[in-house]
Amino acid sequence: MKIIISHDVDLITAWEHKMDPMIPKFIVRSSIELVIGKISLTEYFLRYNELLRNKLHNLEELMKFDRENDVPSTFFIGVNKGHGICYSLENAEHWIKKITKENFDVGVHGIEFDNLEGITKEHETFKQLSGLSKFGIRMHYLRNSQDTLTFLNEAGYIFDSTSYKFENPYRIGNLWEFPLHIMDGYFFNSNGKWQNQTLEQAKETTKTKIDLAFSNGIKYFTILFHDRYFSDSFKSWKDWYIWMVNYLKDNGFDFINYRKALQQLESKE
Ligand SMILES: [Zn+2]
Repeated sequence: MKIIISHDVDLITAWEHKMDPMIPKFIVRSSIELVIGKISLTEYFLRYNELLRNKLHNLEELMKFDRENDVPSTFFIGVNKGHGICYSLENAEHWIKKITKENFDVGVHGIEFDNLEGITKEHETFKQLSGLSKFGIRMHYLRNSQDTLTFLNEAGYIFDSTSYKFENPYRIGNLWEFPLHIMDGYFFNSNGKWQNQTLEQAKETTKTKIDLAFSNGIKYFTILFHDRYFSDSFKSWKDWYIWMVNYLKDNGFDFINYRKALQQLESKE
């Protein structure tokens, strides 16, 4: 079993959200998490500090950690606005270039999921900004309909990792679907809007899921960790990611990215 790690980039600055309810909602969420004892006072104040510093991403910090740990991760970046993603194309382009320069793979964090025209437009925009001809995608909030994968294939994507299910990769035309197995939010905000799991609980759930994947013959185990949470203002989330990478390394698993995994799958056909 090989491990594929990816990061969705949902937020870059606080100011980009001045016209939407993200900031008040975030303050309510953080206050509740503080009151129910899931975050510390330090985390609570660090979150305000991030808002004031106008920096809600942790891309450089996360690239540094992944590089030092030989994790060839993939970053999914939005090139359209909607459902809480509102950074500019200039910001998207800036980070696409910076991330590829650091030798990590990039793909689209998709907004349109059920109309071919919108999906194709995002593909074109990303192609222009990145200079890449072939790349993959993950839908924001894992949104999908029964047509999504067919449309992604028609638009020219080479892989997708949106379906949250316990399966091995499969092909739809020229597109490889890599089902997603672990997403940070599902582990910490289990069936809820705010954090209700401790770091220790998240570790136990993670170990169980890795064991289950291994015993069920999953060949490529895929993990999503949002760069937003690689921060001391989300200490348990950050600690969980660091622990998980080390746990996987200690247990002898190798890391690979989607692009290379896809080549391996095609060479076996
Ligand atoms: Zn997202």
